[in-house]
Amino acid sequence: MHQYIGGQRREASSGETFDVLDPSTNETLETVTLAGHDDVDAAVAAASDAFEQWSRATPAERSTVLLKAAQLLDERAEELAQLESRQAGKPIRLAREFDVPGTVDNTTFFGAAARRLDGMASAEYSGDHTSSIRREPIGVVGSIAPWNYPLQMAAWKILPAIAAGNTIVLKPAEITPLTSLPFAEAFTEAGAPPGVVNVVTGSGPVAGAHLVGHPDVDMTSFTGSTAVGRQVMATAAATGKRVHLELGGKAPFVVFDDADLEAAVHGAVAASLINTGQDCTAATRAIVHRSLHDEFVRGVADLMAAVRMGPTADEATDLGPLSSAAHQTKVAGMVERARGYATVVTGGRTPDGDLARGCYYEPTLLTDVPLDSEIWRDEVFGPVLAVVAFDDDDEAIALANDTPFGLAASAWSRDTYRTARATREIKAGCVWINDHIPIISEMPHGGYRHSGFGKDMSAYSFDEYTNVKHVMHDVTAVAHKPWHRTIFTLPS
Ligand code: NAD
Repeated sequence: MHQYIGGQRREASSGETFDVLDPSTNETLETVTLAGHDDVDAAVAAASDAFEQWSRATPAERSTVLLKAAQLLDERAEELAQLESRQAGKPIRLAREFDVPGTVDNTTFFGAAARRLDGMASAEYSGDHTSSIRREPIGVVGSIAPWNYPLQMAAWKILPAIAAGNTIVLKPAEITPLTSLPFAEAFTEAGAPPGVVNVVTGSGPVAGAHLVGHPDVDMTSFTGSTAVGRQVMATAAATGKRVHLELGGKAPFVVFDDADLEAAVHGAVAASLINTGQDCTAATRAIVHRSLHDEFVRGVADLMAAVRMGPTADEATDLGPLSSAAHQTKVAGMVERARGYATVVTGGRTPDGDLARGCYYEPTLLTDVPLDSEIWRDEVFGPVLAVVAFDDDDEAIALANDTPFGLAASAWSRDTYRTARATREIKAGCVWINDHIPIISEMPHGGYRHSGFGKDMSAYSFDEYTNVKHVMHDVTAVAHKPWHRTIFTLPS
């Protein structure tokens, strides 16, 4: 597979390639072009050339392209689902029911939202002037995406940027570049000028860092780990460009003593295991009232043991492999170290038999977890849930907030005063009540604190991808403005 620059599939200027593996088997899926600095430069030049035309397209014209692209993507839904499932180790049902329809819906949403890019109303605040607001695209956006939801992350980056009139160069994660290319091509096929959407398939430290530091890139939008996000911010600072960061998470899942326990148990299993736990909003820290703790732990352990781990192409599979052997080693290492200080109630192993050749890891539940331990504080990004008991509501909220992250959280209770308090006091970009995970195109996604800043999805994302310009017209037609006379003594 090649990269996509100026509307064409191109080899790397160096001719270098790398292999993308199927994490279910660790076999090669496809050989992909390895982009270097020259390729990034070519993609940025193509995006700069396309900006003049695309930024002057009317909202209606941009909307038409996005809506047509949504239709093309929908027609290719099964093909995209198969590719996404294989490269990212997703059970085919997850790719078919969640990743691809979510991407098509997001494309349709931004097709419609492109026509609502209005600024705030004009105003007559000063008496002598009429003011209005223009929302203008920023220019060339350089975006960097992670491997956990490759198609949806490409969509979250590309859609608001181009709907607002920017052009973009996307660098997908090196282990999952395969669906971003057909996604990008759909926009050219739908009528976007070549160069509006470009994809460079290269490594983070080479292609990614060069894109972030590129002087002709006007904005960096990054989704990935907090550690790399900090490097990205430092590199971008040297050029003074705008930065939008969506980083890691360590979501609390708070179960109050009046919660529907069955719902909370099912919710915890689904929200900790979705996408094999490789979800930045996944439930990772269950904070459970002491009176429900043991029953909650028993219920979650029983359900986790019933989850069907298996090949991604199998319709019966609930849980696929982790994304790579390196990541499997990281997750297994964190759980092994936790054995020294916590109780592994279920899981905690890589499976034997047929699955041993892939990057699988069993659903894992831990209790007796110290609050200062690695497993409680750091992002595992695997199918691992840790449980801690609390005694009163103040303690529950304090535990939920006892993390440097702030991406997502949930509170489980039948008492609306309690949930209202949790909603107000938990420091996270999203708080679910009696559920955990669902997202919708109309609503924003983004973090507090070390989880980053800025919003993906929804009309809020236009705040990231536009400049707001104040335009002020003098309406008095007098040569000597009254305000001049208040501060200067000028001859008439
Ligand atoms: P990562 O930070 O390792 O890599 C993300 C991207 O950055 C990749 O494309 C990588 O090639 C690139 N990169 C690496 N080094 C770089 C550098 N020096 N300069 C520029 N780019 C560089 O993250 P990952 O392991 O791919 O993804 C998992 C992480 O992403 C988790 O921490 C997860 O929480 C986070 N995530 C966050 C959100 C969110 O919305 N907040 C969504 C999905 C994933």
